Amino acid sequence: MKQVFVVTMLLIYTGVSAQSEPLKVVTTFSVLGDLVQNVAGDNVDLTVLVGPDADSHNYEPSPADIVTLGDADVIVENGLEFETWLDDLVTSSGADATRVVASDGVEPLPASELEEHEGEEAEDEEHEGEEGEAHEGEDEHGEFDPHVWHDMQNAMKMVETIRAALVETDPANAESYNANAEAYTAELETLDTYIQEQVATVPEARRKLVTSHDTFGYFARRYGFEVVGTVLPVSTEAADPAAGELATLIDEIEATGVPAIFAENVTNPDLLEQVASSSGVMVAPPLYTDALGTPDSSGGTYLEMARYNVDTIVQALGE
Ligand code: ZN
Repeated sequence: MKQVFVVTMLLIYTGVSAQSEPLKVVTTFSVLGDLVQNVAGDNVDLTVLVGPDADSHNYEPSPADIVTLGDADVIVENGLEFETWLDDLVTSSGADATRVVASDGVEPLPASELEEHEGEEAEDEEHEGEEGEAHEGEDEHGEFDPHVWHDMQNAMKMVETIRAALVETDPANAESYNANAEAYTAELETLDTYIQEQVATVPEARRKLVTSHDTFGYFARRYGFEVVGTVLPVSTEAADPAAGELATLIDEIEATGVPAIFAENVTNPDLLEQVASSSGVMVAPPLYTDALGTPDSSGGTYLEMARYNVDTIVQALGE
């Protein structure tokens, strides 16, 4: 009799403790943090490693991050070699968390060859396979463009991946995750339409982007822009461009006749400003690219970021 009582109490205790301990979710950067927050609501304990206005490409992890990852139940990452520092960090932490790659399910774009010039490609190919031997001037990026989140359709796929992962690891709150994901996806649909409507007001010949680094490939594909050129390739970790490359970019800007080029919240605008002044164009207000802004800014959430970006682009390129 006493034994039955103990077992019963143990079962009750285990049940209660499983419910009262929220799932510990760690995500790599602010954009994903907001997507996860919107699906998870109050059900999880969420930590974001790379905060607002910070650059994930060259993030330097802290010892505290190792502790955070070690405690995690779920780790949500972008993937496509956006977080080049994450694998080592997870290994150091000994984490046994479920890893969720948010960009799974998105059709990836090849990393742009915009910055590579004829004659250099053969040399780059020879160097493939020599890991860790990136030499100065060689683009430090993966095979695919990681910046999937600037296309609302991709964001919907990411939300679905996050929803499915949360439901699987925490089925007790499945109903809440499903409802949150559905409501948020409806907002993404609305925003997708809004962006298309705004872009339609810009004459087609002016739908051209020049930015600090190559972050708007997916935006351009979805909303009908051409990325004319960028100061840096798809990773901000690349070495500064040579004078010749900057001269080419300046020529391209002059040839396409864009009235403005765009700074970003995560990169130093110095080189972009030089390029703008040499080509006689304006530098538009910085776009939120690889990170949200602070909560009080006009890019404090994913939805605000996307709306602000398109409004700023339309204002700068429209007539
Ligand atoms: Zn980037």
